[in-house]
Amino acid sequence: MNTIRFDGRTAIVTGAGAGLGRSHALGLAARGANVVVNDLGVSTQGGRETSDAARAVVAEIEAAGGRAIANGANVADAAEVEAMVAEAMDTFGSVDVLVNNAGILRDKTFAKMTPEDFRAVVEVHLFGSVNCTRAVWPYMVAAGYGRIAMTTSASGMYGNFGQSNYGAAKAGVFGLMNVLAKEGARADIRVNTLAPTAATRMTEGLLAEEVTSLLGPETITPGLLALVAEDAPTGMVLGAGAGCFAEIKVYETEGVALDDAELTPEAVFAAMDRIRDPRGQHVIADAFSQTRRYVAMAAAARNLAVTWKE
Ligand code: NAD
Repeated sequence: MNTIRFDGRTAIVTGAGAGLGRSHALGLAARGANVVVNDLGVSTQGGRETSDAARAVVAEIEAAGGRAIANGANVADAAEVEAMVAEAMDTFGSVDVLVNNAGILRDKTFAKMTPEDFRAVVEVHLFGSVNCTRAVWPYMVAAGYGRIAMTTSASGMYGNFGQSNYGAAKAGVFGLMNVLAKEGARADIRVNTLAPTAATRMTEGLLAEEVTSLLGPETITPGLLALVAEDAPTGMVLGAGAGCFAEIKVYETEGVALDDAELTPEAVFAAMDRIRDPRGQHVIADAFSQTRRYVAMAAAARNLAVTWKE
């Protein structure tokens, strides 16, 4: 197996002053990457230009012989993100890897959640990922190389009580990945998503101590490094925690084709067991593959010959 290295590559890791981002930044630097350690430092006092937390991570990287700069951009602010990417280009000459990791929580039940709580979380997770990806995209297209990781959550993939804002934002980055993996392919830009579960300040107080000791960020970072490696897959969601790794995938059941006379909600209800039957379920490669599949099923049910227009 080839050793995974990032020598000569530059990586931007957002929210890298703490938790998972810090661990990813250290991991990338240890394998040769120049790292832009971004963190707004939302929990620290004072200047936002370069957060204390980000500076501390840069110091750790430098002490281990690596190269890094700290950056205090708010990922939700497109202009600050543009300036961060310009600084990365000026300092290191390229941006090859982007890890969209920065995040916040504002948990409340949906009934109690204000639009402001909803918007703030969507702004950081979804628009933050959009802003950073948009800013690096032209450079990656020009270079014919790019590796981008989004960070989703089980909350977005499966749902979690009290996190409608977060779940929606985290499902949003999954949708963003699905499309960008396709749009980026021609320029060898590969886009994947990490779905971590870690003991960080985000999960403080939610987990027992013996559980916490299994779930350190360093048990997840090897998965992130694989997702942004030269030979990375694309369009993959990697579940990661406690040194366990699994692929999270959307499947579609075989389903049913109702004939014209049966096209009623009652008939859909009556067919629900067959519609939900997981046997023989399909992986759908893209949106039109689903349409193509339904047209083929409907045509077969009606004994019609249909040619798909490409
Ligand atoms: P954390 O709070 O330890 O770290 C998040 C970092 O992001 C902080 O240092 C914070 O200052 C920074 N940040 C917040 N808003 C920012 C902004 N607008 N611009 C720049 N930086 C900003 O959290 P963590 O647990 O390490 O989470 C990292 C990512 O992993 C997040 O996207 C989170 O949603 C996701 N995640 C974490 C878990 C978990 O179990 N910890 C589970 C699923 C997903």
